[in-house]
Amino acid sequence: MMSERRPRFPAQVLRPAAPSGTGGAVPRNSSTSLSVGNQPVARKPAAVSPPHAASAGSSSQAAARMRMAGQLAAAGIRSAAVLEAMRQVERHAFIDSALASKAYEDNSLPIGFGQTISKPSVVARMLSLLVPEDAPAGFRLPGRVLEIGTGCGYQAALLSRIATEVYSIERVKGLHERARDNLRALRVANLHLLFGDGMLGYAKGGPYTAIISAAGGDAIPAAWVEQLAVGGRIIAPTQSDKGHQLLMVVDKTNSGTKQFALEAVHFVPLKSGVT
Ligand code: SAH
Repeated sequence: MMSERRPRFPAQVLRPAAPSGTGGAVPRNSSTSLSVGNQPVARKPAAVSPPHAASAGSSSQAAARMRMAGQLAAAGIRSAAVLEAMRQVERHAFIDSALASKAYEDNSLPIGFGQTISKPSVVARMLSLLVPEDAPAGFRLPGRVLEIGTGCGYQAALLSRIATEVYSIERVKGLHERARDNLRALRVANLHLLFGDGMLGYAKGGPYTAIISAAGGDAIPAAWVEQLAVGGRIIAPTQSDKGHQLLMVVDKTNSGTKQFALEAVHFVPLKSGVT
């Protein structure tokens, strides 16, 4: 089962700055200001993203996507926000058309340049670590999210539906361009694609409510912890002492960081530099 362990998140970043606030879900397109630690974070009103091109693609693909979401729910993904995003974003549109018939199976698939798109169950698991379990459909994580490893852009498209603003960085130029092509038709106004070395994070977009990596390194880069807001969370596959990759969660608090090692995972390596 995929989600027997789930450290609670988000804690304080969800509470509105106003002392009379009741906390809880931030409505879609909210422009509530977010107080991170002692620093008020100036935020532009969130961009209004047009609906994704959900009508494109055949009805059998749509049916396969609904089935996939049902299987994810049965396997322990509870958040309606995550399940809704998984139902809406067309995974087949991000992979080679020769592989389209496999798009809604629970498999990783090649996306070129020696890289792979993660299994839907792993993607859903990572996203569900970012939103409250009871997050309703339409919920948006406040603030900005940084994704390391855009790949084909599939997870970035999902993130753009559960977060207010998303920066996604890719070190392989060809994949960065492919993601841009894949995402163009969706016209996702709250998603910014960057070409660069994600091990350095992207300081200009910070501080981030969340940083999520689709590639696994030996350790969590210091830049990610620095660029994370207090109350924020990093989710990243990381090599354990015993030599296998574990899904790691790092929560930043006023007094430092708290780490949780979750289940074993198999992600492509996090590499430095660009190519
Ligand atoms: N989220 C992607 C998964 C892509 S696989 C998707 O939905 O398709 C992981 C990606 O991380 C690969 O494209 C790889 O090139 C990229 N990557 C590895 N190290 C990186 C780094 N330091 N900075 C940015 N991207 C990196």
